[in-house]
Amino acid sequence: MDALFDLAEFEREAVAATAWDGAPLTYTTSYYSPAELDAAFERYRAEFGHFGCVPRSHMWNRNEWNAGARVVTEDGHELHTFHADTSCRQTDHDHSAAPLPKGGGYLVICPGCAWHVITDTENAGIEAWHDHAMPGWRSLPVMPQLVSDRTDEKKARAAAAKWCAKNYPAEWQRPGSPVRTVRGPYGGRHVEARSPFGGYDLAADH
Ligand SMILES: [Zn+2]
Ligand SMILES: [Zn+2]
Repeated sequence: MDALFDLAEFEREAVAATAWDGAPLTYTTSYYSPAELDAAFERYRAEFGHFGCVPRSHMWNRNEWNAGARVVTEDGHELHTFHADTSCRQTDHDHSAAPLPKGGGYLVICPGCAWHVITDTENAGIEAWHDHAMPGWRSLPVMPQLVSDRTDEKKARAAAAKWCAKNYPAEWQRPGSPVRTVRGPYGGRHVEARSPFGGYDLAADH
């Protein structure tokens, strides 16, 4: 065993010796704020290490590029997304005491309202949040495909802004508003920060 490994082990043992009374260090369906979930995941990694922390802990976590709110509205709603690995492939522990759900791997939180939803798909969670924060979005007009070359992002954004200014009700032309768009057969994911208002680009069903 080399000295560096010893030191890491020593640090983990020191963490393990201190009491933890935050969010549980495992999968949970109870409400916790984004900050509480971040702190719990940090604690887990400080105690057990980073290796395999997502599949081993089954805890709610988010990537570093997704550390903050994905949408913030004028009236204080925020959208935070988390993911958990709920399918256990470990042999050194089991879940007979508290079985993991089938699915249930996506979590969306609105901390200002202490609101959260757990879903099987990311899209379902994003839609539930819009029902919570912006009821009525399902009646918004669906934006047709406006430019043939979608790789020209600047052009596509300008065309979308123009279309929304003309076709959206005035009360929907505000920060965080989504845009509903027609997609191809493989483009069904809701995309953050791609509406002209900084909100989601929501794939329409038809
Ligand atoms: Zn809210
Ligand atoms: Zn497990």
